[in-house]
Amino acid sequence: MEKKELYTSVVSSSARPILYDEHLCIGCNRCADVCQVDVLVHSVNQGEHPIVMYPGECWYCGACVMECPVKGAIKLQHPLMNEAKFIPIKE
Ligand code: SF4
Ligand code: SF4
Repeated sequence: MEKKELYTSVVSSSARPILYDEHLCIGCNRCADVCQVDVLVHSVNQGEHPIVMYPGECWYCGACVMECPVKGAIKLQHPLMNEAKFIPIKE
């Protein structure tokens, strides 16, 4: 049977929901395994942090950050619109 190699690449998006600290991450992939919408996939290189394959699909639920055993290895970055605080204008 003929062997075929399949290639894929990160789906482009203006969203950057997940930031990794490559110096802290131990590459355990627990964050990728817990993500219910498969935003993250395991790196092909053992010990490296997962790849943010589908950034536009993130629900910003925070499960990946809560699952991580290393503080600061993964950070959730909410969209700017969600970080804005609206205050009443004084007249
Ligand atoms: S915040 Fe939730 S949806 Fe987004 S990557 Fe983490 S686990 Fe997946
Ligand atoms: S759970 Fe934390 S330490 Fe493990 S791969 Fe994800 S970011 Fe790295």
